[in-house]
Amino acid sequence: MKTTRYNQYSDHLIEKYGEKVYKLPVNIPGTCPNRDGKLGKGGCVFCDEQGSGFDCLPNTMPVKHQIAENKVFFRKRFNASKFIVYFQAFTNTYIPFDRFRKNILEAAAENDLAGISVSTRPDCVNDRYLDFLLEVKGNNNLDIDIELGLQTVNYHTLTQVNRGHTLAEFIDAVYRIKARGFAACAHLILNLPWDNHVDAVENAKVLSALGVEYVKLHSLYVIRGTPLGDMYERGEFKIISLGDYVERVSSFLECLDPKIVIQRLVGKGPRENLLFSNWGVSWWLVKKKIEDYLEEKNTYQGKKFDYLNGKALIGMP
Ligand code: SF4
Repeated sequence: MKTTRYNQYSDHLIEKYGEKVYKLPVNIPGTCPNRDGKLGKGGCVFCDEQGSGFDCLPNTMPVKHQIAENKVFFRKRFNASKFIVYFQAFTNTYIPFDRFRKNILEAAAENDLAGISVSTRPDCVNDRYLDFLLEVKGNNNLDIDIELGLQTVNYHTLTQVNRGHTLAEFIDAVYRIKARGFAACAHLILNLPWDNHVDAVENAKVLSALGVEYVKLHSLYVIRGTPLGDMYERGEFKIISLGDYVERVSSFLECLDPKIVIQRLVGKGPRENLLFSNWGVSWWLVKKKIEDYLEEKNTYQGKKFDYLNGKALIGMP
């Protein structure tokens, strides 16, 4: 029997680097093509103006100062000595190339780094930016991972979410990222109002088939003033129960390649203007419920990972 029932990021980092490694969030001024009019103006239906940078330092601070301040915090609190610089909020590759280059070089100049992690959209990844990152990786002996907001593989739901891209752009980005030896991380929300249990399972199957290295899960949170918030207040959709969500996560994990590392099982919503987040309980309670459920059902990540490489040919004489 497995001792942990899913492939946890903290264990993976210790195994890979021989010690605990901490992510230093960096917040750069920027926007997103789904907000500034290039692709759309409203943004994704659940997104507020902060673009998921709510736990970051102000974006007016220079990158190296944010890194320095966060390092002090992590060193003091956790006695940390190795770090990954994490460009977190908004779309960190949706900026002019020279600014992107400067930001990355500032991060790469740190001497106690294991790697750099860049969060972006699938349609904001191209060969020019990736080739530059490849140079940085080689020159500084750093690991690079690119985190892609996908949310779901259901392209009909992606339209409802107003993502401004479909599944195809995600597949293209993953191929380009992996071709350079970087790790790809997919961000998913397993309880979008237009998705069901089958979609959750298909998320696991598509990510496994593509061979992404990391997954981040987040349950849906609803913020007042967003299009989703308005729909929620008008009663136009219902969020599935916590019990159903736990079952969904469990089915997702069962079908996920056991090699894929779960960077995050449960996320936190922003602190302000929340209409709904994690069923009104703390994120760690949701995490515990998922872990308890896996235990009770005696199931684990990869239990049903048997569908690639010609499943129908298994046993064929
Ligand atoms: S891609 Fe990200 S930053 Fe842009 S609108 Fe959607 S959630 Fe917000």
